[in-house]
Amino acid sequence: MNWNFKKSAELYGINEWGKGYFKINKDGNVDINPEKNKCLDLYKLTQDLIERGIRSPLLIRFPDIVKKRVKLLSDCFDNAIKESKYKGGYSGVYPIKVNQQKHLVDEIISFGTSHKLGLECGSKPELLIALSVMKTPGALIICNGFKDVEYVETALLSQKLGRNTIIVVDRFVELDIILNAAKKLKIKPHIGFRCKLSTKGGGKWVESSGSKSKFGLSPTEIVLGVNKLKKINMIESLELLHFHIGSQIPSIQLIKSSMKEGAQFYSELCRMGAPLKYLDVGGGLGVDYDGSGNSDSSMNYDAQEYANDVVDIIKSICEEKNIHQPQIITESGRSLVAHSSVLVFDVLGKQQVAKDKLYFKVSKTDAKIVKQMYEIHNDINKDNYNEFYNDLVEKKRDCLQMFTYGVLTLEERAKVEDLYWSTLKKVALFAKDKNEDLYLEIKKDISDTYFCNFSIFQSLPDSWAIGQHFPVMPIHKLNEFPSSQATIADLTCDSDGKIDVFFDSETSDVQNYLNVHDINENEPYFMGAFLTGAYQEILGDLHNLFGDTDAVHITITDNGNYTVDHVVEGDSVEEVLSYLEYSKQELIENIRLASENSIATGKLTRQESKLLLKHYEQGLTGYTYLAEQESD
Ligand code: PLP
Repeated sequence: MNWNFKKSAELYGINEWGKGYFKINKDGNVDINPEKNKCLDLYKLTQDLIERGIRSPLLIRFPDIVKKRVKLLSDCFDNAIKESKYKGGYSGVYPIKVNQQKHLVDEIISFGTSHKLGLECGSKPELLIALSVMKTPGALIICNGFKDVEYVETALLSQKLGRNTIIVVDRFVELDIILNAAKKLKIKPHIGFRCKLSTKGGGKWVESSGSKSKFGLSPTEIVLGVNKLKKINMIESLELLHFHIGSQIPSIQLIKSSMKEGAQFYSELCRMGAPLKYLDVGGGLGVDYDGSGNSDSSMNYDAQEYANDVVDIIKSICEEKNIHQPQIITESGRSLVAHSSVLVFDVLGKQQVAKDKLYFKVSKTDAKIVKQMYEIHNDINKDNYNEFYNDLVEKKRDCLQMFTYGVLTLEERAKVEDLYWSTLKKVALFAKDKNEDLYLEIKKDISDTYFCNFSIFQSLPDSWAIGQHFPVMPIHKLNEFPSSQATIADLTCDSDGKIDVFFDSETSDVQNYLNVHDINENEPYFMGAFLTGAYQEILGDLHNLFGDTDAVHITITDNGNYTVDHVVEGDSVEEVLSYLEYSKQELIENIRLASENSIATGKLTRQESKLLLKHYEQGLTGYTYLAEQESD
């Protein structure tokens, strides 16, 4: 098959979802390309890192991409503001919950300094991070989420450290907590109200919006809140109005509708006498995970269009109502960090249901039905495949029944299975151009399973939990035709630990297999799961006790070179077990005592005991994932 990297790029849609940050190079490897003169071969990088002792699966973070994303969003708003002559300004805040890893947060703050990028926190622990790490003069710290007295008092006191902290009332009871704490500490609070919009966000996070959403004040509560603040002469403290209609909004129409409704809330509050300075439009700016522009995992707009619409809508409503044009705040998280992390993992082996060749002969003594299936296998061709396919399915069903009734032997059943799958492979070939539905149906059934060294639950939890699409593809061999089709199975003992829905950029539809290269025992085959920088790391769990993977931060320098800025070692087995209260000493001691007993009763030799304890101790200090065998 005449194949090259350009065809691979089309097949995997990398030029669509990669947004220029990911490409395929002439060597057939994936390139990381954050900007024009910075390019790094991901496969070569993986090999280098593994030579250094960093283990697969490994998460590679690229600060250069974070930097580009921070700048992009800021530039888009600057352009929109300039273009429409908007009188207010713009500030972004990064919601820490999207990825709280220290090195990443440090990078975001540092890249955001010139744009005054602030932080949003959704809980007390996140507030404690934000207060400590946010030192950019003038940058905002927006406090969302459930709040108790301690949370509120800490936020208020932080003003005395020079932090620009705004406490958003997410639930009506929080207003009293803030007012009481402010009175006690004699600190003027900076208060925000989060309003519940009736506009629903759409996509997978639709429940974040609408009048039954978890957070936000109803129109009645907002009116009560304003009146209360006026009554106690504290309306000056109401500085911000916030709304958030959910993450990953796929459609610009929904964004526009929410902006219109949110801006009306803003104008009404101004009319009621609230001296609002800020309008915080929340997160929701999408990431194009499949490149289609037309699904819940994609978006039908780009960052510039988003910024233009946000600014234009707010401006026109302010002009119409003749009110002050506020500082616009966004809480975009996903869009800033999703592109910056790639999970690289190796394929450990495969399960092939449909073998290319038959490794047996049908003998005279085999049951008649087995011989008939063998004839179908041999005689099927492009003219009869439809009829023969129906016969095949019927005979397979009969065979399974015959086996259940004890009429067919296990050897015969084994032949039937192989004949069935192998013939199905032929049917797929014949049906390819003639019967699309049958072809797709069979392709799904005959695809192989590639067993991969990672845990979906730890590294791609949204893929399992909500069917979120992430681009997955080989990171090398892309000049070679991917002749196999496979689903991806992870290391966990869970039938849900798999990826079997992939976006097909040729048909712009989903399919149940990924085109992959055949694997070769002596040559590692590496795949990448891309756009994993948002939410996945912190949502990941320890199912089957697979812990955090090794992670590295790579800065790309000129001429294809790079620096390894940070290596964050993944969890060892010992660490994971300690989360569950198992102590290493106790575990080892139990095995030692059991070994002594077995030595005493002659069941175990001293050498075997030594080997067992060696493996046990090494196992505890080792990686939770499958390790490459080190030669002794
Ligand atoms: N702000 C709030 C209040 C949120 O709940 C979220 C997440 O849903 C965000 C911001 C971040 O949204 P995104 O990652 O879609 O930008």
